[in-house]
Amino acid sequence: MTRTEFLQICGAVGWGLPFQNLFAHRSNYRSSTRRGNVVIIGAGAAGLTAGYILKQQGISFKILEANTNYGGRMKVLDNFVDYPIGLGAEWIASGTLLFDRIANRQGISEQIATAGYTQDDEYGVWYNGKLVRGNLSTLTYRRFVNSSWFGFFEKFIVPEIAKDIQYQQVVQSVDYAGNKVLVKTSNTEFVADQVIVTVPIKILKEGKIHFNPALPKKKLEAINEAVVWDGLKAFIEFKEKFYPAFVDFVITPATDGQVSYYDASFGQDSERSVLGLFAVGEPAKRYGMLNHNDVKNYILAELDEIFSNQATPNYLQHIVQNWSKEPYIEGAYISDYTDVRVVRALQASVQDKVYFAGDCYTSGKDWGNVHNAVESAWSSIKEILD
Ligand SMILES: Cc1cc2nc3c(=O)[nH]c(=O)nc-3n(C[C@H](O)[C@H](O)[C@H](O)COP(=O)(O)OP(=O)(O)OC[C@H]3O[C@@H](n4cnc5c(N)ncnc54)[C@H](O)[C@@H]3O)c2cc1C
Repeated sequence: MTRTEFLQICGAVGWGLPFQNLFAHRSNYRSSTRRGNVVIIGAGAAGLTAGYILKQQGISFKILEANTNYGGRMKVLDNFVDYPIGLGAEWIASGTLLFDRIANRQGISEQIATAGYTQDDEYGVWYNGKLVRGNLSTLTYRRFVNSSWFGFFEKFIVPEIAKDIQYQQVVQSVDYAGNKVLVKTSNTEFVADQVIVTVPIKILKEGKIHFNPALPKKKLEAINEAVVWDGLKAFIEFKEKFYPAFVDFVITPATDGQVSYYDASFGQDSERSVLGLFAVGEPAKRYGMLNHNDVKNYILAELDEIFSNQATPNYLQHIVQNWSKEPYIEGAYISDYTDVRVVRALQASVQDKVYFAGDCYTSGKDWGNVHNAVESAWSSIKEILD
């Protein structure tokens, strides 16, 4: 089973229950005499989720974020058209009840409009210079309508924890040799009982955070072995729509990555026609090496070939988000074809003091999505509480 098929099945059957298990002993925990505090490194989906649960548990924590805002790879652009553009996470690859579970409140999912695909939505595969058209069959992903993953966290999660997030705190070292953990940033240091590391794996691969003592051999091997895909998205506004809901390119070998063009205005309450480009892995490099204007010309030439010269005359504006060049992120996510044992080793905690959460530090069942980042945060907190 491929990861995509796995995701479709997850979407179809709903989602697992780790969160409910975690909160089953919440009241016991509250009555305990636990003291101490947790430092969370990174304010993406995993870091925010971890902070939100700790807040609900009454446990002291701080989130240290290198950037000037929270969200990480959920970044959005609000002023391109009349709805928010998800520059990273855009689709909901889990059931929407996940919103209730993240916020730990019922009824949130009903407040968030989403749009799903139907079997009648047009689909195409670009192969050998030909567009083979058909219909979308079983794609269970949903899209936010006039909102985003970022918008969900902004509205329902961040208000509870905003004062516990410190920005422009680039963590440089984690010293867990003693009883406490010492976390040093470029300008200050923090002492904690436990630390949860949620930075993208590329940051660890490049040794940008120094650990003392060094991380265990198995963990270091997994960090070295994990292949981080390059990632780029572009959005092109056209005068009118001339493309189907999705066009996938056939990539050979498939392990190299993915390229898709898709209707980014799908389901939106908008008259604007925006086509998205999603490219990860090796194919992302051919777009990522070009400057803003050259990438436009490259994309328009590609689309003119696919859609009989309808792209260039309809072009209005475009934007590009190159995740491989994004500070503190430096890539898209780990390859869809990563060995599950590597992913599990990435997640493993160290000496009951250093925990890992984020889209690649998972149980190995799945990775690379917001819901995986959320689930791994739940697992880390459960481990800390246990
Ligand atoms: C192109 C693209 C498309 C995607 N599409 C989807 C999609 O449609 N649906 C979906 O569910 N998911 C999608 N994803 C994946 C999704 O965005 C991620 O899985 C999720 O946002 C990861 O959250 P995280 O908390 O693990 O990591 P991040 O969001 O990367 O957060 C980590 C945080 O750590 C911070 N940081 C880094 N270094 C330091 C340091 N030294 N000190 C302090 N802070 C630091 C970073 O600034 C960042 O804020 C996509 C990703 C990409 C790149």
